[in-house]
Amino acid sequence: MDDQPRDALLLRALDLAQQYRDGLPERAVPPGASADDLLARFREPLREGGVEPIEAIDELARLAEPGLTAVTSPRFFGFVMGGTYPVSVAADWLTTAWDQNAGLREITPAHSAAREAVEAWLVEILGLPGSTAMGTVTGGLMANFTGLAAGRHAVLARAGWDVEERGLQGAPPVRVLVGAERHDTIDLALRYLGLGAPQLVPADDQGRIRVDALDRALRTSDGPTIVALQAGNVHSGAFDDFAGAVPAATDRGAWVHVDGAFGLWAAASQRTRHLVDGFQSADSWATDAHKTLNVPYDSGMAFVADPSAQRAALGIHAPYLLHSKGAPDPLELGPEFSQRGRAFVLWATLRHLGRAGVAALVDRLVGHAQALADGVREMGGEVLNDVVFTQVCTAWGDDDATRAVERELMALGETWMTGSEWRGRRVLRIAVSNHATTAEDVERSLAALRRARAAAGA
Ligand SMILES: *Cc1c(COP(=O)(O)O)cnc(C)c1O
Repeated sequence: MDDQPRDALLLRALDLAQQYRDGLPERAVPPGASADDLLARFREPLREGGVEPIEAIDELARLAEPGLTAVTSPRFFGFVMGGTYPVSVAADWLTTAWDQNAGLREITPAHSAAREAVEAWLVEILGLPGSTAMGTVTGGLMANFTGLAAGRHAVLARAGWDVEERGLQGAPPVRVLVGAERHDTIDLALRYLGLGAPQLVPADDQGRIRVDALDRALRTSDGPTIVALQAGNVHSGAFDDFAGAVPAATDRGAWVHVDGAFGLWAAASQRTRHLVDGFQSADSWATDAHKTLNVPYDSGMAFVADPSAQRAALGIHAPYLLHSKGAPDPLELGPEFSQRGRAFVLWATLRHLGRAGVAALVDRLVGHAQALADGVREMGGEVLNDVVFTQVCTAWGDDDATRAVERELMALGETWMTGSEWRGRRVLRIAVSNHATTAEDVERSLAALRRARAAAGA
């Protein structure tokens, strides 16, 4: 069964991947079949005998094809997802082929070297403190988890409590303050950490935490406190006022975490750097590479200014493991034990783009978002947010009208934008995250919106 020439199998996968990717610019963005439809075809009884590898691959591609969503289409503006650079896909394939279990530095040295290089590059281009360590994790949720775990360790250690040894039972209460419009994954990470639901601090009209309200909340207690701020609100793209909020929190002894899943990258461009002013005095930062940096899933990064807190919270030592005597083992910097060699993709992508390329990518995404916002206003739609970054929140009359525009737009298949609710109104969100989006894609998407609006009678 294994006698098919190996290169024929991998070349077939390459061919299928190339066909898919070549078709992306003209492919309908939404999937052409539902999961239930596809299940009927995938879910045949598992037969006693197998098939040749190449047959399995052909069959997989044939069955999956109609149900693939063109997340990597240059006109996919749903959620906040991001495309993939060809160099990232290529490095991802090599990562798979090399199959390094990247948790330990001495076992998989090439990966650790790449990780440490990427850590130094990113600390530099994002302007983080020189001491900062970077854990590579599955995504923003786990990056938030990592920063908050380090914070939980640190604020309880300062209160004389060893949470790794004693757990949370009987521990001094840990207060977590977040803006009312923090991302839901902050709540989920806090749940994983046994910290329960956070205390909400009111947000302003762009969804930024109100610094006066945060300051007031901080003053009500001197106990162990974590503050989670946000760089990039999913609806408005807005950034919390770090220059005001970070010192307010650190002056009271709080640990400050920044969720910058897509927005942390603003720090890499001169034009958007002002949005994160003051963020470098925080303690931990979470970001995704699978969003703004346009690498394949799964790729998040957790940065912690004091790596000893990260290692204390998440490290593990066992006699059978060969632990690093130098730089940290990757498994001490995130929640996973066995792990994919995620840093190879980051290294190749950053090497390809260079400093200027990362800045240009950020600027281009912001430019397209502003062009889309201008186009929406020109055709009489409402733009509800200040478009400072990559998010545009639109409305098309009353909530029913906005829903109707969304429905008609999705039926056209030309572009994908996502419906949501923001500040009490139904909205249609546009998130620009794909490096491959061109000015022509922006025009085509606006044309589709115009048609959808006419069809909806909005
Ligand atoms: C996407 C996102 C997350 C979660 O990231 P995942 O990679 O999906 O786990 C967290 N915070 C914000 C602001 C996000 O946009």
